[in-house]
Formats: sequence, structure tokens, C-alpha cells
Amino acid sequence: MARGTARASLPGLNKAVTIAGGGLAGLSLAAGLRTRGIPVTVHEAGSYPRHRVCGEFISGVDEATLGSLGIPDVLKDATPCSSVAWYREGRRIHDGHLPRPAAGISRYRLDRLLHDRAASLGAEVIEQSRQPREVREGLVWAAGRIPARSRWIGLKLHFRHLAMDSDLEMHLGANGYVGLARIEDARANVCGLFRVDRSLRGSGIELLASYLREGGNAALAERLGTTDCDSSSFCAVAGFSLGRQKAEQHLCTIGDAESMIPPFTGNGMSMAFEAAELSLDPLERWSRQKIEWDTCLAEIRTRLQQRFRKRLGAAQALHPVLLSHGGRMFIESMARARILPFRPLLALVR
Ligand SMILES: Cc1cc2nc3c(=O)[nH]c(=O)nc-3n(C[C@H](O)[C@H](O)[C@H](O)COP(=O)(O)OP(=O)(O)OC[C@H]3O[C@@H](n4cnc5c(N)ncnc54)[C@H](O)[C@@H]3O)c2cc1C
Repeated sequence: MARGTARASLPGLNKAVTIAGGGLAGLSLAAGLRTRGIPVTVHEAGSYPRHRVCGEFISGVDEATLGSLGIPDVLKDATPCSSVAWYREGRRIHDGHLPRPAAGISRYRLDRLLHDRAASLGAEVIEQSRQPREVREGLVWAAGRIPARSRWIGLKLHFRHLAMDSDLEMHLGANGYVGLARIEDARANVCGLFRVDRSLRGSGIELLASYLREGGNAALAERLGTTDCDSSSFCAVAGFSLGRQKAEQHLCTIGDAESMIPPFTGNGMSMAFEAAELSLDPLERWSRQKIEWDTCLAEIRTRLQQRFRKRLGAAQALHPVLLSHGGRMFIESMARARILPFRPLLALVR
């Protein structure tokens, strides 16, 4: 079989899978199922291309996962990001290198690539089609983070020709953190997770700069203020909770809809691809009428829990450390003493 070509399927014999949500988890699952000849429809509430709140660097996904999803080349033109610099309120505290380069790519580009790939493999992708959240046999819920009351706001904006002396920069502040990543077309993506402050208003660079100044990152706000920003790329998201998401007993959830790892890890997109890969076999067996839907659902849940338990637990434990004053001081002192265990910590959240 040629790589990426759908296996022959006998229409009518294989039950169809419906996916709600055409983000990374939904589209990559659709592509993977199509390579196995399974009929798939994806319903996406929005349309492509579109910007999304995301740090836009993918770290931790391996080639085998992308290959088994039928998307081996999707990151081939992504910007390799190896060097990382950490800052605390304007002070550079740590320089390091990732053990394996991360891939910098905008969601504007990546989601469209995945859409085109899934569609070329024969998936039906219906845009502007918001699905009701309901328990239904054959429905996979990949519709992203679940709305929840929370104290977080995520902001993202692209900048052109932003001077960076590392591929990735992580800036810790008193109200959250912000990551800078090199992506395509000489752009940098700037994306932050902050505690909501209702006194800060506006949108675009003004809002981002206000949150940065509020957290003690005035120098970064100044630096961004003198750089060419693409205001059409601005997006914001609020009202979501981190960690495992609540789901109805019989709803099949994957990606952020199943669990949302704290963003500092840069691993959420990898988890979305891995979740799609782990769901392929059970869904194929259900589609070919070898197992019941409840068995398929139980298998997917077990696989996701086994794969993600350790990294979710570690990330949930480290997240408050980054956000507390004492935690940031501790990180800074370890970094200054050159004993910050950057790579072991990174391995814990992979
Ligand atoms: C501030 C922030 C920074 C981040 N930075 C990074 C990073 O640097 N690296 C990284 O790997 N991860 C990062 N992440 C996490 C990453 O963005 C997610 O883990 C990833 O997008 C999850 O993919 P998904 O397919 O599950 O969900 P999504 O990508 O959110 O896709 C869900 C899709 O479902 C659609 N949808 C929603 N409701 C419905 C409905 N009812 N019917 C139909 N469609 C619907 C949406 O329009 C969307 O297209 C970050 C997250 C945040 C909040």
C-alpha cells in the first residue's frame, strides 16, 4: 500500500465515525482512520484557516505517531526550535537546549495542512458545523477545552522580524507566563497564560502589553511595542480549566476535551496527536463490527489514562510553582547556581 493511501474499504461494511471538532486531535484522527479505510465525517464549528490561542511550538511528538496517523510530513516545513532562554521579570536566568528540537508552526498553517490532508484521504470535513454535546455511538468528541469558570486568560499575537537570540523564550511574571517561539515566514508567536485581571481592558498588543507590565515584564512589553505585529492574528481565550476535563460517562473524548496539560510544557499538541493515535485501533475494530461501542470507549479511556497519567500529574504539580512568588524565586536561585534540572523536569512532562 502506498504511504498515506486509504486502504480499500467496502462501503456499508464499516460503520462511520463522526468527529466533533476539527482541531489537531479531530483532524489527525480523521486522517488516521481514513488510511485504514474507515468512513469519517468531521464537524468543525469554525472554518480554515484561522488563528488559535496556542504557543505554536510542538515538543515531544515522534515521527512514528505522525506516520501512523497518515500525516508523516505535516511538520516538515516547521521551524526547528532548539535553544531556550528563561527569564524572570526581565532577568535572563537560564539558557538551555531541548534534547530534540521542537517544531515552530502557526495553527493558522498547521490546522489547514491537517484539514487538506484529511480531506485528500477522503474524510468529509464540514465547516461552520457546531455539534451539540451528546452521547452517541460512533461520536468522538474532540472539540477542545471545555468551558469552565476559571481565573485564566490566554492571549496570542504574531510579530514580524522580532529579534530573538534563542529559538524559544519563556518569560515568567507575577501574573503568569508568556512564551515566544520562532515560526514560519520570519514570524514569532507570542502567547501568554495570565491570571484574569478585570481592570485590564482593550485588545491586541495593548491588552497583551498591559498583562506583561502588570506581571513585571515591562521590558518585554516595550520590546514588542516597537516590533511589527500582525494584529489580525490576535486571539484570546478565557474560561477553561487545566487538567482532566469532566465528561459524561459514555462520551468518547480525546485531546483537550479529555485533558488539558498546563501550557508551559509545550506538550498539548503532541498529546492531541498521541490521543488520536491511541484511539485508532479501538475505533477501527468498532467500525469493522468486531467490538461493541462501550468496549471501544473503555479501551480508549484506558489507553489515554495510561499514556498521560504521569506527565499530567507532574505538569499539574509544577504549574503552581511557576505561578507562585516563592516558586519563581526558587527556580531563579537554582538557575543562578546552575543546578536547575531543566532536562529531567522536561522529561517528566513528556
Ligand atoms: C495559552 C495556551 C498556550 C498553549 N501553548 C501550547 C504550545 O506551545 N505547545 C503545545 O503543544 N500546546 C500548547 N497549548 C495547548 C494546545 O493548544 C492544545 O493542547 C491543542 O490545541 C489541543 O488540540 P485539540 O484538537 O484537542 O483542541 P483544539 O485545537 O482546541 O480544537 C478543537 C476544535 O473544535 C472546534 N469546536 C469547538 N466546539 C465545537 C463543537 N461544539 N462542534 C464542532 N466543533 C467544535 C473548535 O473550533 C476547534 O477547531 C496551549 C494552550 C493554551 C491555552
